[in-house]
Amino acid sequence: MDRSQQNERAIDSGRDDSKAHREEIGFVKLVNQTGGAVEIVNAARVSFGKRIDKIEEKDLKLIRYLWKNKHTSPFRHIHFTFHIKAPIFVLRQWMKHQIGCSWNEISGRYVQFDYEFFCPEEWRTRPLDSIKQGSGDAFYNDECEIISRRYIRVVNQCHNLYQELIDLGVCKEQARMILPLSLYSECYWTVSFQALLHFLDLRLDSHSQVEIQDYAKKVQSILFKLDGIKEIMEEINEI
Ligand SMILES: Cc1cc2nc3c(=O)[nH]c(=O)nc-3n(C[C@H](O)[C@H](O)[C@H](O)COP(=O)(O)OP(=O)(O)OC[C@H]3O[C@@H](n4cnc5c(N)ncnc54)[C@H](O)[C@@H]3O)c2cc1C
Repeated sequence: MDRSQQNERAIDSGRDDSKAHREEIGFVKLVNQTGGAVEIVNAARVSFGKRIDKIEEKDLKLIRYLWKNKHTSPFRHIHFTFHIKAPIFVLRQWMKHQIGCSWNEISGRYVQFDYEFFCPEEWRTRPLDSIKQGSGDAFYNDECEIISRRYIRVVNQCHNLYQELIDLGVCKEQARMILPLSLYSECYWTVSFQALLHFLDLRLDSHSQVEIQDYAKKVQSILFKLDGIKEIMEEINEI
């Protein structure tokens, strides 16, 4: 069967796309921040029994020096807590980041999941130059439509069966086994500034999956709005 025949068949069998998936369900919200640039400098200067109340130009130079010379412990006195809603396949990658991170996630044992599944705007091809991981160019729009219809159809079936199992009295912790990785989940992520910079370094990189890059960009844009944080990131060139 050639590609156009396959597409026709996909259209024929993929009409059940009554439920919408494309609206932006995911989010990243900053819940809390403890400490700022002053804490980095004071943590470093405690060695000399000195402390400051306000950041000056020379302090930014010190911060740069600390980072460049891998004197990273002062960066662990600042913490951020984020509330994240993202598809499970994104969170699975995100949660690989462990050092300097604390995680809590919504429990599918207690909560009945809503109909919230990620559907990409565009589907990407396998990369030509590597069989291992990553993705290549996007499919054409009409091809994306066809793939999305088939995908949504199966997602609908999965969620319908999930609901049926719940209605039959099956426990949530087992009923959830039928749900796909594209299901949205929610987490609290508390992370030290050092671990956060490490996360951004890896996940803003083009080798990371596009979907987690998008979330890393959301995290970065939140950080840029915080007093003094963008200046530090510029100073140590971690943006
Ligand atoms: C492009 C890409 C592809 C990936 N592919 C895969 C994959 O196919 N499969 C997979 O399982 N993961 C994969 N990962 C995840 C990756 O292996 C890391 O688990 C993830 O990026 C978190 O980074 P980290 O280990 O540095 O973070 P953390 O676990 O937060 O660790 C931070 C740092 O602490 C130090 N550290 C942590 N643990 C130890 C230790 N035990 N001993 C000594 N030092 C330690 C290291 O310096 C480490 O960089 C991928 C990541 C990326 C970015």
